[in-house]
Amino acid sequence: MAELAPTAELIDGKVYAERLRARVAEEVAQLRRDHGLQPGLAVVLVGEDPASQIYVKSKGEHSLAAGMHSVTHRLPHDTDQDELLKLVADLNADPLIHGILVQLPLPKHLDEKAVLAAISPDKDVDGLHVVNAGRLASGLPGLYPCTPLGSMILLRETLGDLTGKRAVVVGRSVLVGRPIAQLLLQADCTVTIAHSRTKDLPAVCREADILVAAVGRPRMIRGDWIKPGATVIDVGINRVPFDDPQKAAAGRTKVVGDVHFKEASQVAGAITPVPGGVGLMTVAVLLQNTVTAARRLAGLE
Ligand code: NDP
Repeated sequence: MAELAPTAELIDGKVYAERLRARVAEEVAQLRRDHGLQPGLAVVLVGEDPASQIYVKSKGEHSLAAGMHSVTHRLPHDTDQDELLKLVADLNADPLIHGILVQLPLPKHLDEKAVLAAISPDKDVDGLHVVNAGRLASGLPGLYPCTPLGSMILLRETLGDLTGKRAVVVGRSVLVGRPIAQLLLQADCTVTIAHSRTKDLPAVCREADILVAAVGRPRMIRGDWIKPGATVIDVGINRVPFDDPQKAAAGRTKVVGDVHFKEASQVAGAITPVPGGVGLMTVAVLLQNTVTAARRLAGLE
């Protein structure tokens, strides 16, 4: 049987991420020209996790391409807590560095919470310090997590004003679900946060004008969970075997979201593809956060 073409508008993360990176590069050029200020990003990677190495490389390349000062610290897997905390303290004190990102996950012997807590909140461009989480929850200016901010950019580009929309966020992690819910609330949406203990999740999802999936379960959200015409933001990044049995037998995998794209794209008004949606926004927002941090540290805003 022929496959149905998606009827939903595709929200193209590539286009919006390129646009944001170009805007950041302009801002960096202006800061350098008018204030002699070059925003600086330090990325810290401990160990050799292959996915983390790819993310860190991309962050370094994009920050350089935007005209920023960019430093990557690659530490061996057996780095101890004190060494890592010493590096974070040095970066906190370094006037050329405005943004510090410690790539997660850290090797098991390191205390992730203590490391994140050691980063100066004003240089915490990943927005994971409790001070920034508190600022976000209180509606105060701060540095907010990149993937949630990227999701909000896509929503605003697609829908314009979000006032009064019913939003359902599936997932309540500190990294994604909670901050997205806070940002939607700031945008005057009526927000429901669903999670693994939510009763009748399909019915809750069907209430949403805006449905955000941040679960980490491949294709969990089905087409009939979606209100016709809703806007769907799929944050999920899951590796699954190929549908083609030959490719699957060869151990090949592909990336899919938390939403069943084929079904959902027949019902939704607009939807982010995976890959090609939210994931591409994350690094672009990291660059933007670094510029924001640099401006604030220099007293320019
Ligand atoms: P977590 O595992 O930290 O959180 C998952 C959340 O989903 C939890 O709140 C959990 O509920 C909820 N959940 C799990 N199972 C169910 C279920 N059956 N029904 C309803 N809710 C459920 O994941 P993250 O928030 O870190 O990441 C979510 C997804 O986003 C992942 O696929 C991740 O790879 C992706 N991601 C993508 C990024 C990007 O750049 N695009 C960046 C970061 C993450 P409970 O709290 O009750 O356990």
